[in-house]
Amino acid sequence: MTVDVATTAYETRPQRVVSGPGAIRQVADEVARLGLRRAMVVTGTSGLVSVQGALPGLNVVAVFDAVRPHVPLEVAEAARHLARDSGADVLVSVGGGSAVGTAKAVALTEHLPIVAVPTTYAGSEATDVWGVTQAGQKTTGTDASVLPRTVIYDPELTVGLPPELTVRSGLNALAHCVDSLWGPLAGPVSTALADEGIRLLGLGLPVVVTDPADITARSRCQEGAYLAASAFAAAGSGMHHAVCHVLGGAFTLEHAGLHAVLLPHVVGFNTPAAPVAAERIATALDSAGLGPDGSTNALAASGHPMAEESLATLSALYSNLGAPTSLGALGLLADQVPAAARLAAAAVPPTNPRPVTEADMLALLGRAQAGERAVVVPL
Ligand code: NAD
Repeated sequence: MTVDVATTAYETRPQRVVSGPGAIRQVADEVARLGLRRAMVVTGTSGLVSVQGALPGLNVVAVFDAVRPHVPLEVAEAARHLARDSGADVLVSVGGGSAVGTAKAVALTEHLPIVAVPTTYAGSEATDVWGVTQAGQKTTGTDASVLPRTVIYDPELTVGLPPELTVRSGLNALAHCVDSLWGPLAGPVSTALADEGIRLLGLGLPVVVTDPADITARSRCQEGAYLAASAFAAAGSGMHHAVCHVLGGAFTLEHAGLHAVLLPHVVGFNTPAAPVAAERIATALDSAGLGPDGSTNALAASGHPMAEESLATLSALYSNLGAPTSLGALGLLADQVPAAARLAAAAVPPTNPRPVTEADMLALLGRAQAGERAVVVPL
């Protein structure tokens, strides 16, 4: 008898999650619930909320609003300084991944708990991963102390997220789900979270692109983003995130856009060697009403019908969303592709479903740089 069952482990990450329209008004209660009383608000979304007005009853002792992408060390140091000077006992982040990332950098050294109020679909609030950038080099690490104690999802806060950012950020969340299917620590729990995350994002994103104020669809996107990041936190970084991490750092490419552009190319490359993951992607998107877009005439053209189907359903979603498709448009020059391919190939984890040579990566990134359609790459 052959046993085809891998040994896996899953660790829960303790966190209270509150969600619903208007939930931001519960921040003060949630802070009190933790027995805390002096909040430093960390935010980068200027104009999104008048912080004091949107957080009734919260004792705000400081506001740090100088958040910048990828948490430059000097920004982290300034925020840490303010936290110490103000005597804050809790950090309340209101904003996208950069705001929660800044709060995490403070939590890491100042040992303060975080209450996170996310306003994008980046998902950093559900992970214990921190990152700080110094001289263009991003250092990341995991530490239980940076996982927000409470997350408050208020879909009303995302209504003003511009459509382009909504799409990029939503596809960043989708990439968390997909990469979780073949992450180094993937197992049944992370896979279940990823499946449902794909379905919810597939349901919500096409609606919010046409009707940004649809609160039900905005909630679905937030739920999907939370499941996505929870799956990713458990499964670890697969090929997609490893490549995005090095390229984003080396060529200063915008985080969510980079994820959005690369995802179909990674799916086209990996799924021939990961037919079960391919089937999950196709089934989850199908159940959200996104069948193949008809662009793939013969689903068996590459000899990998399930891979073709997963890429076709993903392409249907991308056309529906008017998603970005070109790394060139994000700022990667054609003559930078060879150096990018060298860095990216070296970053792929050894657990990837199939090996990736520099030549493979050169072809993949060449297509992505030029904005060409992603293809299934036969084994
Ligand atoms: P971001 O936080 O930089 O926000 C992007 C832009 O959107 C900003 O200008 C911001 O002010 C604006 N914005 C945010 N919410 C808005 C809203 N509701 N309405 C209008 N404008 C709004 O970008 P992001 O994509 O959310 O996060 C990216 C960062 O998060 C990267 O640094 C990435 O590395 C990090 N990240 C970390 C993890 C982790 O687990 N540690 C996971 C995902 C992302």
